Amino acid sequence: MEIAVLSMPDYKYLYQITENVTPLDKDCGELCGSVCCRPHGNKALGMYLFPGEEVMFSGDEPWLEYERHDPGLYDFPDNWEYPVFFVKCAPPCPRKARPLSCRLFPLAPHLLEDGSLLIIHETMKLPYRCPLILKDFPLRKDFIDTVTEVWRELLKNDKIYRLVQEDSRDRERNLKKLPRVFRLQRLP
Ligand code: SF4
Ligand code: SF4
Repeated sequence: MEIAVLSMPDYKYLYQITENVTPLDKDCGELCGSVCCRPHGNKALGMYLFPGEEVMFSGDEPWLEYERHDPGLYDFPDNWEYPVFFVKCAPPCPRKARPLSCRLFPLAPHLLEDGSLLIIHETMKLPYRCPLILKDFPLRKDFIDTVTEVWRELLKNDKIYRLVQEDSRDRERNLKKLPRVFRLQRLP
């Protein structure tokens, strides 16, 4: 199923609903020394912004460094345009300002062939091991609800939809079995 909607996500709304929800009742960083916020080797931490998410940043944040990537060189779907913003952070960041991908981890979207959305553990290869994934911690329901809501909104954007769709087919090809499903959501 292909979604042909060109809407830009309302990032102010998405930042607002994700500001205070956390995967566990306590700070999960206590389990691992916040390993997902620590540089690995001499590599700074980095993540992609979603299309249009750059509106949430001034460009002058002292804790962020911006790179502009050509989507054709970095395996993005062919409907993505230059520039795709890759940001490197120097922790600790102001929590209120952290990028959306930090707010959604360790959950990820997976689109089935019929267009249904699954919310699953992130399966991307990472330079660290997240105990929430490794030990399959039960996650707060409001966290799962919020992540689902965010992905419902993000997937109204055709670029993000294509990216998730392509990642989902890759995941099905590369993994013997999908990880645990936290939520199954029929999309309109
Ligand atoms: S690696 Fe996992 S457990 Fe550790 S801070 Fe990040 S999300 Fe929390
Ligand atoms: S932006 Fe903040 S939450 Fe995200 S990886 Fe960097 S320090 Fe961690």
